[in-house]
Amino acid sequence: MAQPRKWREEIIDALCELGGQAHYDEIFQKIQERRIMDFEENQNWTAAVRSTIERFSSDSDAFAGKEDIFYSAQGKGRGIWGVREPYRPRESRPLPQDVLRRKYRGDERRTKNLSDAQLREKALSKQTKQPKGRTVSTNAYDRNAFVSEYAKRRAKGCCQLCGKEAPFTDREGAPYLETHHVVWLSRGGSDTIDNTVALCPNCHRKMHVLNRVKDREALKAAAESGE
Ligand SMILES: [Zn+2]
Ligand SMILES: [Zn+2]
Repeated sequence: MAQPRKWREEIIDALCELGGQAHYDEIFQKIQERRIMDFEENQNWTAAVRSTIERFSSDSDAFAGKEDIFYSAQGKGRGIWGVREPYRPRESRPLPQDVLRRKYRGDERRTKNLSDAQLREKALSKQTKQPKGRTVSTNAYDRNAFVSEYAKRRAKGCCQLCGKEAPFTDREGAPYLETHHVVWLSRGGSDTIDNTVALCPNCHRKMHVLNRVKDREALKAAAESGE
């Protein structure tokens, strides 16, 4: 599995957290503390950090000749590196949400091969009482409340996939359904009534986990048939 993000992005953020420049050892430690990268995937990750810095620094013989991101501080061979001004973020940048998602997926895939005992051991050793809060940047869509409400009313209190009544009513006494875009907004779907349906929470989750063609076609028809 690939790393959740490019090493150079992670190194830039780690160096910035360290005040702009730092020794290799501090960089390694910071990257480890940040718990973003997949260290088990690449046991030799510190070598990857070193080679990345060198490939992206004209101060190194290994410079790849492309982006010149890092500079060697206090003379070559001291192992102290900094981020050049143009690559230094103005303020601490939020982590793109998909980086966290990729990191989680990588770990998740790894859990499947563990025995129950191994899983318990991992869960115990990795559990955190105070999960690290992270500022993430996310792509938000400016969804239309009128389209959403229209789709819900059109459904008349029943899920448009399983046909069952909404599982509960909300505080206002309205049947609780969730609106779903048959073609997801993140995949270029439109926020229009012919692409929006109302689903019970179970079916909604099912669409996001499985997104089966058959279900999608049924929902598409339901969205287009409404007046
Ligand atoms: Zn349903
Ligand atoms: Zn949805």
